[in-house]
Amino acid sequence: MKIMMISFMLVSVYLYHAFFAQASDSLTSVSGDYYIISLKYNSEDNFLKRNVYAPFGLTQCYLLPDMADKLKSLESILKEKKLKLVFYDCFRPLSVQKAMWQILPDSRYVANPKSGSNHNRGAAVDVGLADENGSLLLMPSNFDNFTPKAWINYKCSLEEIQKCENRNLLNDLMKQAGLIGISSEWWHFQLPKAKQYPLIPTSVWSSK
Ligand SMILES: [Zn+2]
Repeated sequence: MKIMMISFMLVSVYLYHAFFAQASDSLTSVSGDYYIISLKYNSEDNFLKRNVYAPFGLTQCYLLPDMADKLKSLESILKEKKLKLVFYDCFRPLSVQKAMWQILPDSRYVANPKSGSNHNRGAAVDVGLADENGSLLLMPSNFDNFTPKAWINYKCSLEEIQKCENRNLLNDLMKQAGLIGISSEWWHFQLPKAKQYPLIPTSVWSSK
C-alpha cells in the first residue's frame, strides 16, 4: 500500500511538471508589421500604478500558438483598412494576477487567482486599434476602465458616436478571427473554451 502511495505521488509530480512545462514551452512571442506591443503592466500606466512585469522581464506579447494564428489571420484585413492592432496585455503571470486581486478583489473586474484569468493561460488578449501611423483610435473608455463606458453594449452619445463605431469595428475584427469578447471590457478577447487550457504557474514562467 505504502509503495503504491509513493508511486502515485511520484507519477503525480511527474505529470504536474510535464503538463506545465509543456504549457509554458508552447507560448509563442507575437510580433508583426500590423501589431503594436504596448503592454500596460510593463509600465506604470495601469490601475496598479506600478510596473509589475519588470520583475519577470516580460516585455513581449506571449500567447498560445492557436491564439497567435487566429490573430495572424487578420493581417490582410488590417492592411486593407490601414489599421494596426495594439496589444495592451497578453500572457500574464499568476503572481501579477494575485497582486491585481489584492488591489481589486471583485470578480466583475479582476479574475480571482484561485480560478485564474484566461490571460494566465496565454488564451486571452487585451487589444485596441491604431491607424497606420500608430495613433490610437478612440474608444468609449480607456483601457482598464471599470465603468459602464467599458461595457461592450455601452451606447455613445451622438457627439461620441465615432468611439462606439471604433469599438464595434474592433469587435467585428476579433470575431472574424474566431475570438470571443466579454460584456464588461471592450478590449478583452479570448479563445473559445479558453478555460480548458492550463494555468501557467509563475515558477515555470520565471525559469524560461
Ligand atoms: Zn483581458
